[in-house]
Amino acid sequence: MDDLLIRGGRVLDGTGSPGREADVAITGAHITEVAPGSTRKARREIDARGLVVAPGLIDIHTHSDFTLPLNPRAESKIRQGVTTEVVGNCGFSVAPALPGTSGMLKEYLSGSAPWLPMKDTSFAEYVDTYPETSVNVVHQVGHNTLRLMTVGMERRAATAEEIQAMAGLLEEALAAGALGLSSGLFTAPGANALPEEIHALARVLGKHGARYSTHIRDEGNRVFEAVREAIDVARQTGVHVQIAHLKLSGMDNWGGAQKLLAEIDAARREGVPVDCDQYPYDTGTNPLRNLLPPWVQEGGIGAMLERLKEQSVRARLRADIDKGGLNNFGRIPSWDAVRLAISASQPEINGRTIGDVARERRLDAFDQVCDCILSDKGHTRILITSMAEDDVRAITKTPWILVGSDGNSLATEGITSQGMPHPRFYGTHARVLGACVRDLRLFSLEQAVHKMTGGSATALGWTDRGWLKPGCFADVAVFDPDRIGDVSTYEKPHQYATGVSTVIVNGEVVIDGGEHTGLLPGRVIRRPTMH
Ligand SMILES: [Zn+2]
Repeated sequence: MDDLLIRGGRVLDGTGSPGREADVAITGAHITEVAPGSTRKARREIDARGLVVAPGLIDIHTHSDFTLPLNPRAESKIRQGVTTEVVGNCGFSVAPALPGTSGMLKEYLSGSAPWLPMKDTSFAEYVDTYPETSVNVVHQVGHNTLRLMTVGMERRAATAEEIQAMAGLLEEALAAGALGLSSGLFTAPGANALPEEIHALARVLGKHGARYSTHIRDEGNRVFEAVREAIDVARQTGVHVQIAHLKLSGMDNWGGAQKLLAEIDAARREGVPVDCDQYPYDTGTNPLRNLLPPWVQEGGIGAMLERLKEQSVRARLRADIDKGGLNNFGRIPSWDAVRLAISASQPEINGRTIGDVARERRLDAFDQVCDCILSDKGHTRILITSMAEDDVRAITKTPWILVGSDGNSLATEGITSQGMPHPRFYGTHARVLGACVRDLRLFSLEQAVHKMTGGSATALGWTDRGWLKPGCFADVAVFDPDRIGDVSTYEKPHQYATGVSTVIVNGEVVIDGGEHTGLLPGRVIRRPTMH
């Protein structure tokens, strides 16, 4: 007797091929049969007539390591059908924190993980003691974190000994089951790394069959060079490279999506192992300080705050920004394109734009930027509208582009319900299955599901998740194809997606009749270690 039988739904198996009516049988944590008109008996049947039955969605690029310990139910994600989150992205991981360094790491990550307690920990201890969660979790170790542990916030190339030390910490993380290394070369201290440093670490990854993901060095005015740098890692070392949240940021780069996509496609056709993911929004989010040239952060937060008080430094920053646009984001029409998401010291300005606040206070907008950073001690988080909708759509609709929310698991109640987060934290996957399929008609529902299941699983090197077929883990999402959609907006972000009725993780029902059961059956998925 099976444990569960999902009856009569339209099964999209994750391959992208046309759906068909079938029953899905589950025993324990695995799928045992996918067949029409099953005669199997199960302890529980779920009626899926009129609904779509798909593999649980994989969110291939997230920062939920900053919130899952606070919100283990992973509400904003699992209510979209997401059953697996890949964390530790953009070079940021909360482990390893060598003895005596967790305070520094917490300060460094405060603009992204304001509420998360941190402690000194090895990567192995971090993974071994990871809390139980509703979703599966895949850990990566962050290059920024490794560099903080070895070089600190010094603005220089790493020495051979320091690269050796980073490689040692990377080996420890890989032995503990990390998927691989992530980098965030757009900001300090990762921005100080030369390509050779990344290649040296990638060769360590190659030895262990591990992977590399990257928030590239520049998503604005140098996006083409930065994409080439990422492709080059794959070309030179043979290691699989995942380019995160592909975009062209800044007015001077708008309209370049087709050319950028063609370049990546050409490399893929040559057999270079490169994949990309994207969130389908024209707005990004980051700590406000990361919009400034990386040199301002040299020496850490304290040194940056001292610098920002000086008019001469502000003048140099203004000149840099006038010339080259914002770091990573390029030129924006005005500071009205930047909206405050989380300002701990002045919560009353959350949700308003920098331009708006500056006008009210009769301040120059850039002085307002500096004042926000100073009063929040560097922790201010913002939303920045810096992409062209046509580029966003061109990237979204490309069949080989995968889907990553770049967002955290949040909930509409409790500690993670604070501030004005990016709506992608609540809506990315539902938007791809809803608006992108039904309203924008960018692709079929089968293709949309494939991007977030079989397509992502292939990029991760998996064969046992991402498809609905016997032997695979029973991660399943059941949703109404006419109703699934994102609800979260910039003005009112804390709203769950609609249309998902059942979500099963490792054979256990976490969303039942649209409600969370409170179960935490997610697993830490470790990379198989090679011998
Ligand atoms: Zn990123």
